[in-house]
Amino acid sequence: MRIWDSHVHLKHGDADRTEYSAAQIVSTMDAAGIERSVVFAMSTTTERSVEMALEAVREFPDRLIPYVYALPQYGHAVLDEIARALTEQGFRGIKIHAGECTLAEYVVGPVFELAARRGVPCLIDCLGNVRAAERLARAFPGTIQIVAHMGCYLGTDARLLEGFIALAQAHDNVYLDLSGVVLLEQVQQAVGRLGAGRLIFGTDGPQQAPDTASFARLAIRKIDVLDLADDQKEDIFWRNIAGLLRLA
Ligand SMILES: [Zn+2]
Repeated sequence: MRIWDSHVHLKHGDADRTEYSAAQIVSTMDAAGIERSVVFAMSTTTERSVEMALEAVREFPDRLIPYVYALPQYGHAVLDEIARALTEQGFRGIKIHAGECTLAEYVVGPVFELAARRGVPCLIDCLGNVRAAERLARAFPGTIQIVAHMGCYLGTDARLLEGFIALAQAHDNVYLDLSGVVLLEQVQQAVGRLGAGRLIFGTDGPQQAPDTASFARLAIRKIDVLDLADDQKEDIFWRNIAGLLRLA
């Protein structure tokens, strides 16, 4: 089965701001059987995120797919940088993290509008804030919102995750990213309620747990052990993200 990883960090948001080179990412992919990966940096400026992703993709153009990191801020023309990345530099999506950027509409709204115009998805870590995700889904129905970690990284609150499943049920433009999800029963439930077409595999790697290849293999295995038809697994493991990125 083909596997695409929709959530890979060139630079993480952890305490150490851990960075991984393109070569480290691709050797991890090779070890885990992953064909292509979406890569992005956070904990840095939009400008630097573009540089880091471009360097990585130049090295492995057939394996890595770049997202630009949106860090809209007052008094800085970040929207132009994002637009240039999408129109001239081959970027396929936008990463947003509520830990570094408020999700208030007056801040991220212009980024969402740009994403809709360019037809690219926004991968958003909303830190469990289902109301913010809901406001954005409603205000920008033409923007594809991929909710990282089914809404909450390593979330153990089943009701919170169910709130995000309900959000995706109510809004066709909302997809759920399965990286960093520990309540597998909620993933199974999401397939039942949404169908496999709205769920997207990702690892949130590389991470040393205990090593990057084992971490990626475990993320794959968590989905692979679910009670799903092969066709549903194909959707989740690569077809959905390939379709959203228009690479299918
Ligand atoms: Zn992440």
